[in-house]
Amino acid sequence: MAYEHCIETERCKGCGLCVAVCPKNVLELATEVNTKGYFPAFRARPDDCIYCAICCNMCPDVAITIAASEDESA
Ligand code: SF4
Ligand code: SF4
Repeated sequence: MAYEHCIETERCKGCGLCVAVCPKNVLELATEVNTKGYFPAFRARPDDCIYCAICCNMCPDVAITIAASEDESA
């Protein structure tokens, strides 16, 4: 089963909680702001992601989701 990790940039308020809790150090905060003026999280090292969903559970704004992907190569 392949998974797709999605960060909704415009929902993110740049709190950094997901960056701090990721056990694989996948996430970082961007250097450019979103339309609300926050520096959103992004996957700096996506190949290291183990899809543990800790970041999804931690995000207070429900900006991160992981979904099963149809594409097995994803
Ligand atoms: S799913 Fe797990 S490994 Fe992947 S970015 Fe989130 S906390 Fe990190
Ligand atoms: S925990 Fe959520 S709101 Fe905070 S930086 Fe991560 S994605 Fe953005």
